[in-house]
Amino acid sequence: MLAEMGLAPVWRLRADRGARGGEETRAARAEPGAAGERGAAPGSAAEREATIMRMDWDALKRAVPVCTACELHKSRTQTVFGVGDQRAEWLLVGEAPGAEEDRLGEPFVGQAGKLLDAMLAAIDLKRGENVYIANVLKCRPPGNRNPEAHEVAQCSPYLLRQIALIRPKLIVAMGRFAAQTLLNSDASIASLRGTVHRFAGVPLIVTYHPAYLLRNLPDKAKAWHDLLFARRTLRSLK
Ligand code: URA
Repeated sequence: MLAEMGLAPVWRLRADRGARGGEETRAARAEPGAAGERGAAPGSAAEREATIMRMDWDALKRAVPVCTACELHKSRTQTVFGVGDQRAEWLLVGEAPGAEEDRLGEPFVGQAGKLLDAMLAAIDLKRGENVYIANVLKCRPPGNRNPEAHEVAQCSPYLLRQIALIRPKLIVAMGRFAAQTLLNSDASIASLRGTVHRFAGVPLIVTYHPAYLLRNLPDKAKAWHDLLFARRTLRSLK
């Protein structure tokens, strides 16, 4: 009943997942004007999410740097919004900024970022050209610890809005956090790879996180296959 009235939160903690599939819930609500906007209680999470889902790029870029919705704002140097072509066909989603990203304000600029740039080059893509790169979290978790569920819940509306504004043709979720968050799943990367999933109707492919690949060189070959699969999938849509 609450969901019907638009009073339920758009993003639920995974432990709180209900009987409805997460993809269905998010897909239905990723579009502007969807359920989250209907009669959300003032000051509620639903109202905050509905407000974010109405933002244009400028408003979103102003909102993220002043966000204090979780404790991460206390330890960040700056937020890391995302970078690239705002009309990109490709959207790559990582986990959260690391130390270098926190210092420079851009995603994937450390060692993992160098590998990501090389991976993009291998399929004739370049940061900023038809590619947008964002993270699930816009702030660095201290000591590069894993994101916590409530941090993901607070930050996810920003990513959701970025996706709605970019309207990419393909999303590549890099690593467990991005994949599990966008697919609302607990499944392993290994089991999610090799399938075209959907997020809000957009095809989504899962691959390993570049930082993981730096530590697990043999899996680079699998990531290469994932990228080729992603490119084939995108081309098949044209
Ligand atoms: N790892 C991520 O997931 N994102 C970054 O921006 C950097 C490292």
